[in-house]
Amino acid sequence: MAHAWTITSFYRFLDLEPDRLDALVTELSEVLREQGIWGLVILATEGINATVAAESPDTIARFKMLVCERLGDDGIRFKDSTSEIKPFRHQNVVGRTEIVTLRRPDLHPDDPESSHLSAREWHAMLGSPEPKIVLDTRNRYETVAGKFRGAIDPGLDAFSEWGEYLDRAELPTDVPVMIYCTGGIRCEKAILELRARGFEKVYQLRDGILGYLAEFPDGEFEGECFVFDDRVALDQHLQPTTRFGICPGCGLTGSIETRCAWCGGRFLACEDCTPRPALTCCKTCRDRVGRHGVRFGA
Ligand SMILES: [Zn+2]
Ligand SMILES: [Zn+2]
Repeated sequence: MAHAWTITSFYRFLDLEPDRLDALVTELSEVLREQGIWGLVILATEGINATVAAESPDTIARFKMLVCERLGDDGIRFKDSTSEIKPFRHQNVVGRTEIVTLRRPDLHPDDPESSHLSAREWHAMLGSPEPKIVLDTRNRYETVAGKFRGAIDPGLDAFSEWGEYLDRAELPTDVPVMIYCTGGIRCEKAILELRARGFEKVYQLRDGILGYLAEFPDGEFEGECFVFDDRVALDQHLQPTTRFGICPGCGLTGSIETRCAWCGGRFLACEDCTPRPALTCCKTCRDRVGRHGVRFGA
């Protein structure tokens, strides 16, 4: 029987001196390797953003304690889930200029609590008859798997397009705006861009879709939640998807069952790539089709 992996996802905006940052990258890299922790930890002078997994829940518990201790911060909100499949193939701790890439390292979330709605408050506000705009701050390849009922999908290819979208969208600034993302981190910066453009009432979903689904499965979120690991997406009960895969043609979200032109194996491709005549499940099969031609038609 496959054993479950314990996964935790968290972020925190805080000030890290460059020297401290470098030391933490080194230390956490060693910890991941020594403890058998898999996943990605991003550090920048503005804070930390991570999703990591281990086979033992105790390993994850110890890792959380270590992170809180090293950052001198016990207010970090960890979002946990489990998976029967190993969600990561790498053990990466990296230093970057931002922990979430808006290409605005100058923006510092400074008011982390007042604009946040709990899952319960968010759920109630969505259900209220008051006018509001619900905006998804995620990318197109994520919203294709699911989004909140009635939410506007800005159609972003990357989060760094958020500001341009707001300039183009001409949304009314006097109607309350509700924004959400996967785990909450993108909204911490997205809200600053909204405020800078004069939006008066902006609310962000604390802990994102993952936090919402933990309390309201089969609620106002429709479909599944894309995640950035080998689980691809999580269903309403935070279990790995059976509906979506990573399209081998383009690397984005796929849901159309397709037959590999070389090995005949089944995989999930996206709408744009499916019409291609020699789509293959992996690079090895693609190379073989390149040398020997197609073995299986669609
Ligand atoms: Zn594709
Ligand atoms: Zn194949």
